[in-house]
Amino acid sequence: MSAANPRDPARRAAFLRSEIERHERLYYALGRPEIGDREFDRLMAELMALEKERPELAIADSPTRRVGGEPLAGFEPVRHEPAMMSLDNTYNLDELREWGARLERLALAEAGDGFEFVAELKVDGVSTSLLYENGLFVRGATRGNGAVGDDVTENLRTVRALPLRLPAGAPSRLLVRGEVYMPRAEFERVNRERELAGEPLYANPRNVTAGSIRQLDSRQVATRRLHAIVYQIADGPQRATHSENLERLIEWGFPVHDSWRKCHGLVEVESFIAEWSERRHSLGFETDGVVVKLDDLALRERFGATSKAPRWAVAYKYEPEQAETQVRGIVVQVGRTGVLTPVAEFDPVLVAGSTVRRATLHNYEDLSRKDVRVGDTVVIEKAGEVIPRVVEVRLDRRPEGSEPFRMPTHCPECGEKVARFEGEVASRCVNPECPAVRQETIRHYVSRNAMDIEGLGDERIAQLVADGLLTDIPGLYHLTREPLAALPGWGEKSADNLLAAIAASRHRPLPRLLFGLGIRMVGERTAKLLAQHFGSLAALAQASEEELQVVEEIGPKVAASLRAFFADPRQQRRLAALAAAGVEPPAIERPTAATLPLAGKTVVLTGKLESMSREEAAERLAALGARVAGSVSKKTSFVVAGEEAGSKLDKARSLGIEILDEAEFVARARDWIRK
Ligand code: AMP
Ligand code: ZN
Repeated sequence: MSAANPRDPARRAAFLRSEIERHERLYYALGRPEIGDREFDRLMAELMALEKERPELAIADSPTRRVGGEPLAGFEPVRHEPAMMSLDNTYNLDELREWGARLERLALAEAGDGFEFVAELKVDGVSTSLLYENGLFVRGATRGNGAVGDDVTENLRTVRALPLRLPAGAPSRLLVRGEVYMPRAEFERVNRERELAGEPLYANPRNVTAGSIRQLDSRQVATRRLHAIVYQIADGPQRATHSENLERLIEWGFPVHDSWRKCHGLVEVESFIAEWSERRHSLGFETDGVVVKLDDLALRERFGATSKAPRWAVAYKYEPEQAETQVRGIVVQVGRTGVLTPVAEFDPVLVAGSTVRRATLHNYEDLSRKDVRVGDTVVIEKAGEVIPRVVEVRLDRRPEGSEPFRMPTHCPECGEKVARFEGEVASRCVNPECPAVRQETIRHYVSRNAMDIEGLGDERIAQLVADGLLTDIPGLYHLTREPLAALPGWGEKSADNLLAAIAASRHRPLPRLLFGLGIRMVGERTAKLLAQHFGSLAALAQASEEELQVVEEIGPKVAASLRAFFADPRQQRRLAALAAAGVEPPAIERPTAATLPLAGKTVVLTGKLESMSREEAAERLAALGARVAGSVSKKTSFVVAGEEAGSKLDKARSLGIEILDEAEFVARARDWIRK
């Protein structure tokens, strides 16, 4: 590809757009990215800056539209033509066979040895309709009541899996239907963030998706990494069969999940159903069944639809991972960050293969409803790997005279008055001496994904805290054999084992220690990124908020939380105590420094650049591993000279140092980034 002249913004914008689109496709449709998120964001940022400066360059299908636009006052209605129908459900194989038999009766003798079907996974998300005109995505809508939905075009633009432009050769008008969903990992990320921030958790990915898609501010939607699959051509040129249509959708760049299968007769459909009944749990998204569709479109036409659903398709629903039970009590737990969480205890019930006895009420839906009562019959659910939650109260079965639950005004563990911070829904115990907070702090520190100290289960920690043997994390390293061995149920062997496990934790890797410290909003992933970037606890502790935000994915909130943590004298004492006890993670080899394309190079900038500011150029160079120096010397690797460069340029010339003009610099920078 020829280097775009940086002085020609239109060409530069076109180049950036094609690069961004290429990387989006590599990432979302093909699943093999070539560059990291950060480089991608950089391309996007450059394009956005360009378009801001030259609004005429901001064409309608620019990928920058994916980051969201001005909030809307409301949604415009969209009439669905054809209507967005729902599907008839079947809940067992008998019902499915009954559906097949009805088709055969309708078709009379023509079925022969069975129909050709296509079986697809039923993705549990939000149904959407997408319109492309002249190859461009022009409108996206929710299902609404099936006849009329909401225009959520701007929000759907933020879903990177959906193409904004179709390749040449695609029909001039194409209406497709699909499902927008939130991947499990993203759901967990969002919830983990909320948990660390003390915010109520979301109940399941579907609800967050539905809520996100109906946000008026598309910039908010863009922060949620929603995904999508497309499963139907609703209007536009069709081939003879659904399976051929799916193939075409793939060619046009639509995200079609590759699990779909052509099945000869219901027998093959049944094996598809059996095969996916367990396997679907390992997918990155939630599914609640299988959709069975007739493959032959002409045949579909003949069977038609009822007022509600097509006759040629049916959903087979897997057993829901929900169950009903009765609330026996509601207790309040105090977490590591002091957050008070009401927990419902109920009659044991089997959900998704395991017995469930309690569920947290700490999630948005529950809290906004705020009305799970002792004695209530509730529907509980397990979403993904997460702890079960109460989905719904069966109000029709509420016993008479039941009382609404009230959050205590005082900490159930230490009796101190609880606080409620601005903008937070949760109440917190802010007493640093609170035994519950201490206990949870220790529990988190020793947990498997943190310092992984075996032999310290919840009960034992509670015992040690209650006996005054342990008050805080550093105390772990001062435990001694005799008092431990003397505890009821312990003995010398368990004492020795525990001490050995504790000793072994002294040199756990930095990310584990960081995560284990329980810094608000610092989950496992954030801890990893921080450790990689700073290399040591000491370096991290000294970083300013600005320096922290240089790290990928670290925003102002996390940076502020880290600063607050390291500035807190109590935490400083704790860290000093840990260091004194010999807790010292091995130094991290920062892969970046040595392997970056400009590692070891010293660069000097002079003159005015056109396509970016000097600061920006310096930042980019630094990100590529170069040191940016203020003056030219023999050690200078090269000089980037813009317009009106002065004495530095002269000096570089006299020393015979390589000089790049702006165009050359930009062109080379592209190669460096690729490396
Ligand atoms: P229901 O909402 O239960 O009537 O089921 C119909 C909905 O299932 C459709 O509106 C789609 O949103 C959704 N769905 C999910 N996956 C598929 C699929 N592969 N084919 C058709 N519909 C699907
Ligand atoms: Zn307390």
